Amino acid sequence: MAKEPKKTTGRNGRRPRLAVWKFASCDGCQLSLLDCEDELLAVLGEIDVAFFPEAMRSRLSGRFDISLVEGSITTPHDAERILDVRRRSDALITIGACATAGGIQALRNFSDVKEFASIVYARPDYIETLAASTPIADHVAVDFELRGCPISKQQILEVLSAFMAGRRPVTPPHSVCVECKLAGNVCVMVAHGTPCLGPVTQAGCGAICPSFSRGCYGCFGPQESPNAPSLSRQLSKLGMSNRELHRIYRSFNANAPAFRDESERHGP
Ligand code: SF4
Ligand code: SF4
Repeated sequence: MAKEPKKTTGRNGRRPRLAVWKFASCDGCQLSLLDCEDELLAVLGEIDVAFFPEAMRSRLSGRFDISLVEGSITTPHDAERILDVRRRSDALITIGACATAGGIQALRNFSDVKEFASIVYARPDYIETLAASTPIADHVAVDFELRGCPISKQQILEVLSAFMAGRRPVTPPHSVCVECKLAGNVCVMVAHGTPCLGPVTQAGCGAICPSFSRGCYGCFGPQESPNAPSLSRQLSKLGMSNRELHRIYRSFNANAPAFRDESERHGP
């Protein structure tokens, strides 16, 4: 069982110091944090935001009680930088599909990156990049992973509050299907034959897409115990080809093992 986080109290009677770090990402998860607005002001009353380049001019120095990390590791420089972030952080929390699974940029993991670079850049020899985009947990120990592309505002506030209080964050491990039932949605797959990854996708969004009669495309990544082969059989009955099954799992969480394995069962 995961350990309870220690209460984040800060040192020498001061408020806990928070840092927000960016690696390979679109900044959307940091914007979700900024979008918390009113609630964020309450959090700011309890915490000292010491480093958050997206939002403020701040100095990078010393240690941090909590580090939020957005983005995946895609360059040798970032592979070094995350080691430094880990050394300086008491608690390290990864936020979003990029940081927890490698993100949409992990599509590179299934192709030849050198070939891409030679097509896109006039001087590919100037490009220093890794062959794969990998989650932060492949490089350093992570204290908590918060999924989503982008993350949910409510969930990031819950995670911050939990770490400050020294308790485990309450983030549901069940699938989007449960959220659909809670929202009173008619199942889009059963009622309309719309392909939907809700049965294998981690809850957290409040079933946004099925609430608007769309199938879920898995932006929160695989839930705790996904049965993707079973879902694929059902999607196949709805008329999806092998090629379509191969592609449906290859989006924001293409490198998450459950989605990666299921995609590979249906194509190269
Ligand atoms: S998880 Fe999605 S929203 Fe967050 S940084 Fe990555 S691409 Fe952007
Ligand atoms: S329903 Fe699926 S794709 Fe839509 S926001 Fe939720 S997790 Fe993402």
